[in-house]
Amino acid sequence: MKSFSTYLCLFYIILSSQLFPNTKTKLKFFENKVLIGEINTIQNKQLFSLNDFIKLTNSKNFTNDKTEKIEFYIDNKKIKITNQIAFIVVDDSLYQLSSKVVMQDNNYYVPAESFFNIINNLSTSSSLTLKTNQISLSRLIEIPKKIVKVDLKNEKKKWEFKTIVIDAGHGGKDPGAVGYRGTKEKDIALDVAKRLEKKLIKNMDVKVVMTRDEDVFLRLSDRTKIANENNGSLFISIHTNAAEDRRASGFETFLIGRSKNEYAARVAARENAVLELEGIPGQALTGEDLIQATIAQSGFAIYSETFADLVQIEIKKRVQSRDRGVKQAGFVVLARASMPNVLVELGFISNPSEEKKLRSPQYRDQLATAIYRAVQRYEKAL
Ligand SMILES: [Zn+2]
Repeated sequence: MKSFSTYLCLFYIILSSQLFPNTKTKLKFFENKVLIGEINTIQNKQLFSLNDFIKLTNSKNFTNDKTEKIEFYIDNKKIKITNQIAFIVVDDSLYQLSSKVVMQDNNYYVPAESFFNIINNLSTSSSLTLKTNQISLSRLIEIPKKIVKVDLKNEKKKWEFKTIVIDAGHGGKDPGAVGYRGTKEKDIALDVAKRLEKKLIKNMDVKVVMTRDEDVFLRLSDRTKIANENNGSLFISIHTNAAEDRRASGFETFLIGRSKNEYAARVAARENAVLELEGIPGQALTGEDLIQATIAQSGFAIYSETFADLVQIEIKKRVQSRDRGVKQAGFVVLARASMPNVLVELGFISNPSEEKKLRSPQYRDQLATAIYRAVQRYEKAL
């Protein structure tokens, strides 16, 4: 007869395995039959760590800690996953996972079986299989059709210009300026930003990083941080303007610098006002901050100026609105950018007729096309 302590011990094992169902185990990961590492799993291997998977497959990726999203690529397909959501977005299509994505210790865990099923049905050049203790990835190695002579000068340019960061102004609890018809700056900015993203991805060989791609609040410093951490080659902050005088109209592009007049200072003050919502009022730029920012950016200020000019030229070509030119002011969101940067004011949401135009999807598309063309011309001019 078994002793009481054996029962107690068994009871303890059963209890502890129920108490800690998230205990980590590992899956071996093979690529083309070569073991290249291990992937952490939780919940008895039901869920596996995407972060490990991305690291082992060397996929380019982007995480947004605020919105708890992770984006990465398999065979040039963009895959987007969000914490606590049981869907996966592949390019622009939505697929159902068997359970919610779980975040643990900054790792995204996804249900293994349904994830691989979805990926295998979409992928043409690689296949992923899941067995008891391992994941195998087999990739078809593409053989170049012909040998292309590489122009080193052009290659260098390509490397220098590879990541564009689009920053849709405001968001979440910060609506930005609100028009007569209730149009919110945050919505116009996000819509134009998304249109621009699509055009850039479709037509140019660049990576696009969005500081936000939905209606969420982001601090000004986080926007710049995202741009810097992603080694952006160009930072475009998108806004709409507002003024007490409802007749004020037109589009303008701002660079970081000392305001040349009261008007420019007012625009910067309005755009910096979000610092109050961030709970850090009085953090607007001092004269000294501005001098420091100008010195820090002196190495690429000429590029910011070139791009700002192109934005104005391209918008002017496409829309019936007043060209207010390129200006300077002390925008917090631009101050610490370590790459060429501009802030575009698409129009005055406070002007009823301009607000009406900004509400039109066609008009917003023209604005996005204009900025996209400016990026294209800018790249050529580098
Ligand atoms: Zn704004």
